[in-house]
Amino acid sequence: MGTEVGKVHTIDSKTFLKVLDNILEVMKANEKYLTKLDADIGDADHGINMVRGFQKVKELINRQKNPENLDIGTMLNLTGMGLLQVVGGAAGPLYGMLFLEASKTVRGKKEISVDDFAKILEAGLKAVRTVGGGTIPGEKTMVDVLHPVVEKLKEMLSTKKDLDFIEALSEIVPLARESVLKTIPMLAKRGRASYLGERSIGHQDPGATSTYLIIRTFLDTLSGKTGVKISKYDDVSGALISEEFI
Ligand code: ADP
Ligand code: MG
Repeated sequence: MGTEVGKVHTIDSKTFLKVLDNILEVMKANEKYLTKLDADIGDADHGINMVRGFQKVKELINRQKNPENLDIGTMLNLTGMGLLQVVGGAAGPLYGMLFLEASKTVRGKKEISVDDFAKILEAGLKAVRTVGGGTIPGEKTMVDVLHPVVEKLKEMLSTKKDLDFIEALSEIVPLARESVLKTIPMLAKRGRASYLGERSIGHQDPGATSTYLIIRTFLDTLSGKTGVKISKYDDVSGALISEEFI
């Protein structure tokens, strides 16, 4: 990480590994929530898929000789491989290819800048759109979060001098959250939710929600938070207290 107080100009391999570990913790903390969202408009497996996937990712990375020393391109590649190996359905190929294509943008790098981060997300978005069959914004998918985030990040990079991760993510995370909420009134045009037609309206997209979680985890990790739970579940009874999320 950069040295200037309050600014984080780069993310190194060690921090990136922490982000990946934290994504697994976050998926575990929100597994029920993601699965509940998928129960409404899909087949109730999204939370399970994400936890299983990132568990495999951790296993693949830990199998390497010196995980903290891997370059970030390799970490992203192993992430894509892990997700492709154990996650079926739509999310496996979508997220798998997102990470595999993203890995190509930072091959061999043990430190990435905000500019690299934008390239990672842009390549990931492109992969999701391709694998999804030409998915465009407004179709109630993870593209509804990725697209505005990539656009905003590119705009910030072109207008703000000395943009660092904290400043960039502090704008991008709330934007991603708003973008998740915007999927609620959308009519699903892709994946299982599209089979519901009009009945998909009024529900939050699970894939858009997990994409938000992943982006948010970068900021949370840099701020020292782990396993943040965005849904409001009663830890004892397991009952959903509120649909609203943070
Ligand atoms: P499955 O639908 O196979 O059960 P998941 O439940 O794990 O897989 O993931 C569903 C999510 O995948 C959806 O909420 C949506 O965001 C995303 N998705 C599905 N189809 C597409 C597509 N064609 N393009 C982009 N994203 C998609
Ligand atoms: Mg599903």
